[in-house]
Order: sequence, then C-alpha cells, then structure tokens
Amino acid sequence: MSLFDLKGRVALVTGGNGGIGLGMARGMAEAGAAIAVAGRNGKKSEAAAAELAKLGVKTAVLEVDVASEASCRRMIDDTVKQLGRLDILVNNAGINIRKAPDALALEEWKQVIDVNLTSAFICSHAAYPRMKAAGGGKIINIGSMLSIFGASFAPAYGASKGGIVQLTKALAVAWAKDNIQVNAVLPGWIDTDLTKKAREEVSGLNAMVLMRTPAKRWGKPEDHAGVAVFLAGKASDFVTGTFIPVDGGYSVQV
Ligand code: NDP
Repeated sequence: MSLFDLKGRVALVTGGNGGIGLGMARGMAEAGAAIAVAGRNGKKSEAAAAELAKLGVKTAVLEVDVASEASCRRMIDDTVKQLGRLDILVNNAGINIRKAPDALALEEWKQVIDVNLTSAFICSHAAYPRMKAAGGGKIINIGSMLSIFGASFAPAYGASKGGIVQLTKALAVAWAKDNIQVNAVLPGWIDTDLTKKAREEVSGLNAMVLMRTPAKRWGKPEDHAGVAVFLAGKASDFVTGTFIPVDGGYSVQV
C-alpha cells in the first residue's frame, strides 16, 4: 500500500456534509476511502454523499446530533453496519456563538462545549474498541486558530478548541500502544457557512483576515484535503498527538 493510498479504508466525518468536513472527505475519497457523511441536515448529507460517490467510493449518510451521546454511539455503530469497518474518525462538527464573555449565558457555553469538544471525546471513546480490535486507526480532531489565540467574541469556542488540542494529546498518548494515531488540524480563516455568518456579525473581520494572513486570502475547504489524506494514511503512522495549522501562515506572523 502506498503512503497516501486509502483504498479499503472507511472514514467517518462528522459535519462531513459541507465546509471543511466535506473538503477533507473529498480528499480522502479521491485517495480511495469509503466515506460516512454524518450531520443533522439530511438533505445536505445526501447531496454531499452523492458528490463523493461520483469519485467511485462507497458512501453512507448518517443522521447525528453530536451533542447527544446516544446519537454519537449510534453513528459509530451504523458506520460499521453500513460500510463494514471504521478506520478513520474525523471529529469536525462545530458551532460558534459569538458573544463577549459577560454576555454569554451558561446554556450557550454548554452548547458550544458539548458540540465542539465533548462530542470529540464521546465519538473517540465509541470508536476506540473498534479501532483497537482492527489493529489500529486514525483520529483527526478539528481545532482552530482559537486553539492558540484569544478572541473577545468567542470565549466558549476558544475554550472548546483549546480543549481539542489537549484531548488530542491525551488520546494520542493513551492509545499509541493500540496503533491509533490522534492528531488535530487547526484551520485558519476558511470561507464556509460558519465564517460567512462571522463576517456579518464581526465588523472589520474580512479586512483583518486579509491583512493578517500572509497568503493574503481566505482558506477554502479544499485546502484541507491534503492534510486529511496525510493524517488518515500510512504516511503519518509515526505522527501522533500534534497539531497542524492549515492557515496560510496566520499563526506564525507577528
Ligand atoms: P460549517 O458550518 O460549514 O460546518 C459545520 C458542520 O458541523 C456542518 O456540517 C454541520 O452539519 C455540523 N454540525 C454542527 N452542529 C452539529 C451537531 N449538533 N450535530 C451534528 N453535526 C453538526 O463550518 P466549517 O466547515 O467552517 O466548520 C467545520 C469545523 O471547522 C468546525 O469544528 C469549526 O469550528 C472548524 N473551524 C472552522 C474555521 C473556519 O474559518 N471556517 C476555522 C477554524 C476551525 P449540519 O449542517 O448537518 O448541522
């Protein structure tokens, strides 16, 4: 098997029906992986799966609310029922509630932490016995520039994404003995539904992103295809517990 060949592998992508998740799913499908597309919006998921199937891979559409433990566990079981195995888990589903800390209600805090962070723990916890029994696996968690930086308008989001990096390290250390590699990807500012809303809500954001990003552009979902294939395949078998920014240089610019 070549270093970047994913034929015979099965990848589950939460929030794989759009944005960064779909960008990663496309990359892995092009490398030959079967893809389970999981999200709340069934129509979006069907459309994404139909597009991926055109690349010649098997697909499954799974309805999930990652804020629910039962729903996450069912999603993992259904992936194996429908596609036969689970080799690659991408914990990508995420939301943001943009408010200053003093304006954020506890329920809003909990909602963001549940969807962005607790879900990654639950899905990884549910996937672990399957991957262990299969002799290994790959878990890819999606962080953010707010895993590193602070933003006045994103206290819960920043906490969830900082937590993703630490969860990644803990899982990587614990499960290295089982040949499971766990890594995080930290996207920069990427043009998706999530940031379209941010551009409307945060004044000056577009100009700040273009000024602060050395590549002088917003990222695109497809910018994440390559890193997904790398972290999902044999090429990264000795890479674990780390994070890879995909940010056009945003995180290294003073
Ligand atoms: P999108 O809004 O396009 O995608 C978010 C995805 O998450 C959707 O597919 C959505 O599916 C899914 N989702 C949200 N809540 C739930 C839920 N409760 N249960 C199941 N699925 C859910 O945004 P992005 O592609 O930008 O975001 C993807 C990830 O990348 C997120 O974790 C985000 O935090 C992260 N990120 C994004 C950045 C950016 O600049 N865009 C920068 C850094 C990180 P559905 O529509 O079916 O609900």
